[in-house]
Amino acid sequence: MSSEHLDTLCVQGGWTPKNGEPRVVPIVQSTTFKYDSGEHVGDLFDLKAAGHFYTRLSNPSAEAVEKKIAALEGGVGAMLTSSGQAATTAALLTLCKAGDHFIASASIYGGTANLFNVTLRKLGVEVTFVSPDATAADIQAAFRPNTKAVFGETVANPALDVLDIEAFAKAAHANAVPLIVDNTFPTPVLCRPFDFGADIVVHSTSKYMDGHAVALGGVVVDSGRFDWKASGRFPEFTQPDASYHGLVYAEAFGPAAFIVKARVQFMRDIGAAPAPMNAFLLNLGMETLHLRMERHCRNAEAVAAFLEKHPSVAWVKYPGLASSKDAARVKKYLPRGTCGVISCGIRGGRVAAVKFMDSLRLVALVVHVADARSSVLHPASSSHRQLSDEQLAAIGITPDLVRISVGIEHPGDIIADLAQALSASQQASWK
Ligand SMILES: *Cc1c(COP(=O)(O)O)cnc(C)c1O
Repeated sequence: MSSEHLDTLCVQGGWTPKNGEPRVVPIVQSTTFKYDSGEHVGDLFDLKAAGHFYTRLSNPSAEAVEKKIAALEGGVGAMLTSSGQAATTAALLTLCKAGDHFIASASIYGGTANLFNVTLRKLGVEVTFVSPDATAADIQAAFRPNTKAVFGETVANPALDVLDIEAFAKAAHANAVPLIVDNTFPTPVLCRPFDFGADIVVHSTSKYMDGHAVALGGVVVDSGRFDWKASGRFPEFTQPDASYHGLVYAEAFGPAAFIVKARVQFMRDIGAAPAPMNAFLLNLGMETLHLRMERHCRNAEAVAAFLEKHPSVAWVKYPGLASSKDAARVKKYLPRGTCGVISCGIRGGRVAAVKFMDSLRLVALVVHVADARSSVLHPASSSHRQLSDEQLAAIGITPDLVRISVGIEHPGDIIADLAQALSASQQASWK
């Protein structure tokens, strides 16, 4: 693990040019790499030699960013993927096969919930959801002999619940399985789940890490701390892989067994690899991640305080508020800030919420969160529009809920725009 501060790693981590090499991570826009001998290529294929040979498996532009993110999270290795969805899929399918089972916090990203409920079930991998506030006994009750992992989000999108990482890690380890944490919203700048016992971290880099809404991407990071041999639950790590002449991952790669297996098995076979250009853009975004996260948090804290006092706002959910149900967890896991995303209810319900959104000028209506520009989304009229008010209530999304992603503009300008739209939302003529 690097001894440099996170700020320095954001700017310079992962790429140390030698004499005369480019100062900036180069875009190596090449699918393949040239070698002088067949023997060398054979060694690459047998994983006896390290080196790039095909961009589906590895690429120098991606590798630089992988090293940066591994250093930021405090892990032994990382693998970039084409999207956040691909990162979560890679993490779970490196651990689970048909007939296996895992446990997930119920408070997670909608796309992840679909992946778990629909596609992984179709592949024969079963999930049990538990409350993000589950007790140790609740989590324990969900374990089965074929359970292979526990999954949760540090700060859930969109519910904004804060995961008790230590409690989930303890439950996972008591059953000899790893804890996977989706750390997309805080980023390693605000929370490093490995410091609290998580074993594997995934991200959608499409959000704050890229930060400018220019490149879809994901990453899987390995802490290197899970003991696959001692667990006894992971024969795929401790028994020979016939597709690599009987290689045993836990022996050949030691603490990096998981991330190597994710690359040479999952990525080899599924191919959800990032474009070199996207790796370059991600790196460029990450050079200012530490500055942006600080500003996202300060702006969101100001906006949340404004909304909490506003008569046209029925309720505010932001983990950074002193009134948050998760205030104790925030103090423990996220002392420097939580994220820039706030949800709130507009008085007057669905109609007023739509009027509010349509009246915004600076804060844009987009299907995205967590980039430099402030944005808003009303799930009841967009992503969840097929559901009735009763169905929405059942999954915790009320018709009045709007999700505000607070950007890094001047906080006064953001608040002024919200204020004028809130007053427009209450105009009787609209109703
Ligand atoms: C957006 C998001 C994802 C999915 O990432 P994509 O890059 O859109 O595939 C996963 N987890 C969280 C928390 C997200 O916000």
